[in-house]
Amino acid sequence: MRRGSNLPRVGDYNQVVVLEAIRRHATGLSRVEVAVLTGLSAQTVSNICRRLLEQGLVEEAGKQGVGPGKPRTLLRLAPQGRYAIGVHLDPAVVTVVVLDLLGHVVARRDHPLRPGAGPGQVLADVARDVEAVIADSGVDRERIVGLGVAAPGPVDSAAGAVVHPPNLPGWDRVDVRDLLAHATGLPVVLDKDVVAAAVGEVWAGGVGGTGSAVFFYLGTGVGTGLVLRGEVYRGASGNAGEVGHLVTGRGGAECPCGLAGCLGETSGPLHLVREAERLGVGHWDLDAGDDLLGQPTAVAAEHRASVASAFAEVCALADAGHPQARSLLDDLASRMAKAATDLVDMLDVEQVVFGGPLWSRLERTFLRVVPPLVTGGAVSRAIHPVEVRGTLVGADVAAVGAGCLVLEDAFSPRSATLLLEH
Ligand SMILES: [Zn+2]
Repeated sequence: MRRGSNLPRVGDYNQVVVLEAIRRHATGLSRVEVAVLTGLSAQTVSNICRRLLEQGLVEEAGKQGVGPGKPRTLLRLAPQGRYAIGVHLDPAVVTVVVLDLLGHVVARRDHPLRPGAGPGQVLADVARDVEAVIADSGVDRERIVGLGVAAPGPVDSAAGAVVHPPNLPGWDRVDVRDLLAHATGLPVVLDKDVVAAAVGEVWAGGVGGTGSAVFFYLGTGVGTGLVLRGEVYRGASGNAGEVGHLVTGRGGAECPCGLAGCLGETSGPLHLVREAERLGVGHWDLDAGDDLLGQPTAVAAEHRASVASAFAEVCALADAGHPQARSLLDDLASRMAKAATDLVDMLDVEQVVFGGPLWSRLERTFLRVVPPLVTGGAVSRAIHPVEVRGTLVGADVAAVGAGCLVLEDAFSPRSATLLLEH
């Protein structure tokens, strides 16, 4: 099946392969080294490198002396050669970034979702922020390759639409890709937020070894991005990686699915704050129903902010050694470790990466509790180590990942790209 994309291509497949080789060597590669790495002939490499230099995608990075003979000119990616826009459409806040060709953020803006706004108004606000952030960056619009959107799932990735996301009520089926393409005049790609975050991590060089990892995205819900041999696995429709109903231990909160102890239900901030209250950690006045959390109203926005700040307090108390708060988060970390170990076993990956809006709060607990459970529990433990760590990209990993969707689509020889017609 073909994956839809309307991004302009940078050239033929060989050109993308050469660009990828150069991208992976930040200090520069000579044409001879490019030929060895890609298996292309010296003449082909020479022609492609000339085109890449002309297009401003690569630049010279000094000379490399190798014994007798002419020193070789090194080539590296030109950061200002092209740019990409990343938009993270979160239920509470929209973040927009401009990335250079290396995936570094050169400008950033965010704004809270306007309470009561429908999809049309939200996307109009996004389009306005995109224009503003482009102006902030001072980047020549001609050099912007496209705009990537990270949205809550489920998504219909072929259609570029979000379809009834539980965290964006009222968005029954919204053609985000086409609406934003129309509003901004830029080519647009859309993926689920966890998929975008995983792409961001890969683009940042965060997935080494054989390039296999599970990325846990901790936000309003919990989801995973699956990286298999350097490529993010999207599944049939872009919705791979749902782990909300993995049962991760005895007991735990009842889930609408009818079971108890599902990961999604036990890891939500509101649930954890209520548990903290029950354990006598503190009292936060959060009487509103769970349903309210997802509503696009001013009251709901206030409620979300109260939950976030109460959750931050619980995490700070746990970090300070409060016994009940610590035990609550340790239990959460153990449940997450169970899910992580199951996925490590199922996919035989070498890395577990955590990130997302809640990560900075949970980092200390998780990095203490999760690594020994995963490394000690994985079936493959006697064959290879499993690394557990936080994202290299930071708190904006979904927005940065959204921009990286564009860079990946345009500049990386992924298997999906091979299937595109041009
Ligand atoms: Zn469930």
